[in-house]
Amino acid sequence: MLQLNQLSFWERKAFFDGIDFTIIGAGIVGYTTAIQLKDKYPNSRVLILEKGYLPSGASSKNAGFTCFGSPTEIFDDLQKSSEENVWQTVKMRYDGLTELFRIVGGRDIGYEKNGSWDLILENDTHQLIDKSFIHYLNENCSRLFGKDAVYQEDSVSPSKFGFQGVKTSFFNSEEGQIDTGKLIKALQEIATEKGVISLFGIELVDYKEETNQVRLTTSIGEFYSAKLIVCTNGFARQFLGNEVLPARAQVLVTNELVNLPFKGTFHIDRGYYYFRNVDNRILIGGGRNLDFEGETTTEIGTTHLIQEALTKMLEEIIIPGKKFEVEYQWAGIMGVGENKSPIIRKQSEHVAFGVRMGGMGVAIGSLVGKKLANMWA
Ligand SMILES: Cc1cc2nc3c(=O)[nH]c(=O)nc-3n(C[C@H](O)[C@H](O)[C@H](O)COP(=O)(O)OP(=O)(O)OC[C@H]3O[C@@H](n4cnc5c(N)ncnc54)[C@H](O)[C@@H]3O)c2cc1C
Repeated sequence: MLQLNQLSFWERKAFFDGIDFTIIGAGIVGYTTAIQLKDKYPNSRVLILEKGYLPSGASSKNAGFTCFGSPTEIFDDLQKSSEENVWQTVKMRYDGLTELFRIVGGRDIGYEKNGSWDLILENDTHQLIDKSFIHYLNENCSRLFGKDAVYQEDSVSPSKFGFQGVKTSFFNSEEGQIDTGKLIKALQEIATEKGVISLFGIELVDYKEETNQVRLTTSIGEFYSAKLIVCTNGFARQFLGNEVLPARAQVLVTNELVNLPFKGTFHIDRGYYYFRNVDNRILIGGGRNLDFEGETTTEIGTTHLIQEALTKMLEEIIIPGKKFEVEYQWAGIMGVGENKSPIIRKQSEHVAFGVRMGGMGVAIGSLVGKKLANMWA
């Protein structure tokens, strides 16, 4: 690839000189930061650098759930974290989704508000969600974002949908689903329309803060930017050490099925497994808990262990007795840490980080972008 010192005068001027904000990572956080910077500072020069020829972390690979919390996940979080933290996270997801919809406006991102179901399997032993817990969830949703009766028990739908081995379910009327590819394309288009330059195939290797600017060392050479904003999520260990760990998540998609009896998003076992319809196909993901150590990697790839577990879940619970083919299998890289809060931080005068989305970046990414854009005087 051509190095920066081989570029023409024109290329240097058009793409790399006088940059006010350089954003690393063309994911949801990178794009929404860029868009909101341009809204705030219309005359600024905003550049996004992405190491892949497409975004190569999670934003174009995720399951596309617009979700803010399933009962078993919230129950589990309450055992591990303070009540205040848990509800702060739920609210951040809800507000983040509101912000995402504001940014994309009327563009088609394949949004469907079909609701979600948290399935309780017959052999689930980890906890019991009862009526009083559902009441508690609804009270908090009403208090935090003014929505009443968000959750309710639904013991009828699982058998109507043909699931096997499901004891009951809890329906969330406010959750939905999007087309992940359409979302990232829409964000790219909005950013470009606002004058953001996105360059692909360029990796940030290192940076050094100088008096009034930052020197960026990239895979194509060095240049300067007034500010640097790192939005590399699961890859941020490169700069922040073990504050951010990569967490690979695997997914598969079936062939088109005849008469698929459900539309919507589904969670199983505290969100460790999830599935949805994509038109007449099923997308299923999860199973990271089968091999936490092996999945703590930035390597893009699928494993037999997890793909097998996802297939088994289809065969035994979701479409028992139905023939299907697996047509797509892939993995993406998320960023996790010791708790579910993202890192949104000014690291020094001219450098900021917005990373560690904890597997919920569709929901919270735009709010993180907003906070990153509002950091500068
Ligand atoms: C399979 C899967 C399912 C998921 N499902 C959901 C869901 O349903 N709902 C939900 O809310 N969230 C979901 N998530 C999580 C969500 O997709 C992420 O939290 C979100 O996309 C993170 O966005 P981001 O912009 O922070 O990071 P990313 O999308 O990972 O973007 C970071 C970018 O930085 C680039 N990069 C890294 N290092 C460098 C470097 N040194 N130089 C240049 N570029 C670099 C990477 O290539 C990458 O494109 C899922 C994730 C996966 C993997």
